[in-house]
Amino acid sequence: MSAEPSIDLHTHSNCSDGSLTPAELVSRAAAADIDVLALTDHDTIAGLTDAAARADELGLRLVTGVEISAGWRAQAIHVLGLWIDPANPALRRALAAQAELRSLRMRRICARLSAVGLPGERLLAAVEANPGLPTRSHLAAALVAEGIVSRTDEAFRKYLRRGRAAHIAAEWPALATVVGWIREAGGIASLAHPARYAISAGARRQLLAEFAAAGGTAIEVVTGANAAHHVEACAQWAIKSGFTASVGSDFHHPQHAWNPLGRLAKLPPGVTPVWRSHGL
Ligand code: AMP
Ligand code: MN
Ligand code: MN
Ligand code: MN
Repeated sequence: MSAEPSIDLHTHSNCSDGSLTPAELVSRAAAADIDVLALTDHDTIAGLTDAAARADELGLRLVTGVEISAGWRAQAIHVLGLWIDPANPALRRALAAQAELRSLRMRRICARLSAVGLPGERLLAAVEANPGLPTRSHLAAALVAEGIVSRTDEAFRKYLRRGRAAHIAAEWPALATVVGWIREAGGIASLAHPARYAISAGARRQLLAEFAAAGGTAIEVVTGANAAHHVEACAQWAIKSGFTASVGSDFHHPQHAWNPLGRLAKLPPGVTPVWRSHGL
């Protein structure tokens, strides 16, 4: 491996709301000269076995990961579990419960859509036809396919986001619980895209403090869609609070040319990369 390996620690496959199979994702990462890749599907580790097999074939280092949905003050927060043991029984039980929550939530969201005159049953069937755990991304795509909205972001704006007809308040387990699962499975908990939550600066400070108190040790300082000033802000939070820094594209779809695998900004000086503790 070269002195500076190319690292992407946040990606999705079609086991959640990405469009590539885990093996296709790893192949694409290898073709993009990525040396170290984490597969971090929403609330599932179902893709890790196939991803690891392809990574072995191609000589790429796969980091076992997951992006778990947690609740904090009625806000959904995403926590990356990196270097987790996928065989850990408690983690597997917890993710089975998350999958159940996702199915239930999707049925409730679609019932809301029916209540405002949309074909909720058909939309639910379209979501459930996907191989992955149901997510609002799948539903947004189904709303586009039905011609109800013209783009997925319009689906969120009109129906799915907080304050809209089909929004269901998050019933995810508490942040500290989720961090506990990750640590118990031997993983590092990294707060995903900390600049993306619509909360005040004071609330964000509290979130970071509670995350640290629960055993979270890293935050995502570089994330695909992040503007440069976000990277700088996240780096400052990491330095101030003693978090190490993770880096990831949050890649979902090859057709989203603006968010490719691995083409990520460098970490600003002064922050400790999360992978230092793993010999990289
Ligand atoms: P869920 O975890 O089921 O609530 O779905 C969240 C996923 O929806 C995120 O991981 C994104 O991939 C996607 N998403 C969230 N907000 C938007 C948005 N405004 N436009 C497009 N996709 C979004
Ligand atoms: Mn997603
Ligand atoms: Mn996320
Ligand atoms: Mn993600």
